[in-house]
Amino acid sequence: MPSILTFLPVADGQPSRTGLEALARARQIATAQGWTCAAVALAPDATAVAETLGRYGAETVYAVSDPAFAEPLNAPVVEALATVIAEAGPSVVVFPSSEGVKDALGALAQRLSAPTLPDVAAFDVAGSTVEAVRPVMAAKFRARVQADLADGTPVLVSLRAGSATAEEAPVTPEVIEVALAMDAGSLRQTLREIVKAAGGAVDLSEAQVVVAAGRGVRDEASKALVEELADVLGAAIGASRAVVELGLFPPEAQIGQTGKVVAPDLYVAVGISGAIQHVAGMTGSRTIVAINKDADAPIFDVATYGIVGDLTQVLPPLIAALREAKAA
Ligand code: FAD
Repeated sequence: MPSILTFLPVADGQPSRTGLEALARARQIATAQGWTCAAVALAPDATAVAETLGRYGAETVYAVSDPAFAEPLNAPVVEALATVIAEAGPSVVVFPSSEGVKDALGALAQRLSAPTLPDVAAFDVAGSTVEAVRPVMAAKFRARVQADLADGTPVLVSLRAGSATAEEAPVTPEVIEVALAMDAGSLRQTLREIVKAAGGAVDLSEAQVVVAAGRGVRDEASKALVEELADVLGAAIGASRAVVELGLFPPEAQIGQTGKVVAPDLYVAVGISGAIQHVAGMTGSRTIVAINKDADAPIFDVATYGIVGDLTQVLPPLIAALREAKAA
């Protein structure tokens, strides 16, 4: 039976939220096509996540357990995925379009000579074709792209965060353990040090709530209000390019065309005008709250709820009300 295989990045022993979203979309396609829904996990102990992947509908879980996956290096990931794809023979392989996947996907596509549809917002299988929609030109346009399913060579697809909902569909998965066939000598990279960004307790790409600051946040006092709001909401902190360039927020906090793409359940934009290059990185958010003193700011065109006002006046009572609600 043909199959669709989803790659689930694992961090701290848990599959990523964006990976579970990709798996949910793959499961829908498997159900519609009468295919098998499979998943692959690479981790020091990959079998530990098999039950979770079964809960989200993976009927078969390929678990590659190796200490090499404790470090974010590409070569073992590409090697392991090539091995699992050769063993599983899927028609389509789905990836979450995360930063780590962006690094590995090109190398894997080249190695397998596989047709690849990267960073799509939607995809489906129609007959012998994989059809997808891909935001282009800072998400101003949507391109329809497609790849043909051919015997033996899977189509690789990476799905943008927030493009599917990670819904549970429990099955008891068959777990197939696969060994990483790679000796340490062939690894031509050395990871010397991982420098963790200061602050930002919550990972921006995986966060369910994001509070993002723009040029309206112009000094340390306003920044402290943004941090307080993020703290009370348990949110990750993002930023527009304007405040990253001002040095008020670190480059890894930048959201947008040349920053990260996020799709949380709740996105709070504080003092952000809503330039197209910024919106390209957050438009997939489920609920968008915009706080801006200019009622004509374009951010209100994409916002679910808007508060027109000066952030220094709006945030203190909002934070106090949220603290009160939490305490109650
Ligand atoms: P502004 O546009 O200056 O807006 C500030 C907003 O704050 C205004 O709407 C104002 O009304 C409001 N404000 C001011 N004071 C207050 C207050 N006290 N209370 C409430 N509201 C207040 N930008 C990105 O963000 N991400 C990207 O990835 C990105 N990539 C780019 C790539 C290219 C090739 C180019 C050309 C540009 C890119 N930009 C990107 C820049 C983008 O075009 C905008 O310049 C930028 O997003 C503006 O940031 P901002 O909204 O914070 O600032």
